[in-house]
Amino acid sequence: MSQIAENLNRIRKRVAHAAVSSGREVSAVKLLAVSKTFPADAVAEAYAAGQRCFGENRVQELEAKAPKLPAELEWHQIGHLQANKVRGALQFSSWIHAVDSLPLLQRIERLAAEMDTHPKLLLEVNVSGEESKFGLRPDEVAPLLEWLPSSAPAPVVGLMTMAPFDVPEPTLHEVFGGLRLLRDRLQQETGHPLPELSMGMSGDFEIAIQEGATIVRVGSAIFGHRDYNMPL
Ligand SMILES: *Cc1c(COP(=O)(O)O)cnc(C)c1O
Repeated sequence: MSQIAENLNRIRKRVAHAAVSSGREVSAVKLLAVSKTFPADAVAEAYAAGQRCFGENRVQELEAKAPKLPAELEWHQIGHLQANKVRGALQFSSWIHAVDSLPLLQRIERLAAEMDTHPKLLLEVNVSGEESKFGLRPDEVAPLLEWLPSSAPAPVVGLMTMAPFDVPEPTLHEVFGGLRLLRDRLQQETGHPLPELSMGMSGDFEIAIQEGATIVRVGSAIFGHRDYNMPL
């Protein structure tokens, strides 16, 4: 078995264990394999091991990789998205995780209508309030949901967050649990269903699952150490 297949098996077991031990269905948690910086060959190996959903950060990298791989792969744009990259992101991605402003949401909706594509969107929230460049403040989320027409081509289906790095476990519980509570409150206040919570990475996905994650974004624990200088 390849190293990637072995890693995938191990991570799938840990995901399943975390779900079951928190009283959740295994099928309620989607494992997203974050393949950024890894070549199409590595993605093909994960695909051969049964993985179908992959996350990428940079649109240019996805544009180079996606055409080399089977069309049935489900691509998720997970990183910060610049306005001038929206069209490229929409070309291949069926999910966009880090929608973090009203102008970006409006641009995605306009181009999705023009391109007749219907990706699922997640609003990125900076739950911890730490110095982070990206993510909406919790009180900035409702206005985006209120703006969204019910006929929007790209539905907002949930929230996404990045936990701060190098923080103790109780803080991770607070951040992930905080995103779930915010979701519950927003659903009640706006009536907009937000079933999906994208949270948890290689170092903390089990805690995220305990707190209700429906999508965990796992990169290095599947593909290994990232080298950002690697050519595509
Ligand atoms: C890189 C990345 C991940 C995966 O990180 P790992 O620690 O390698 O699992 C998850 N989410 C986002 C937004 C990322 O950029």
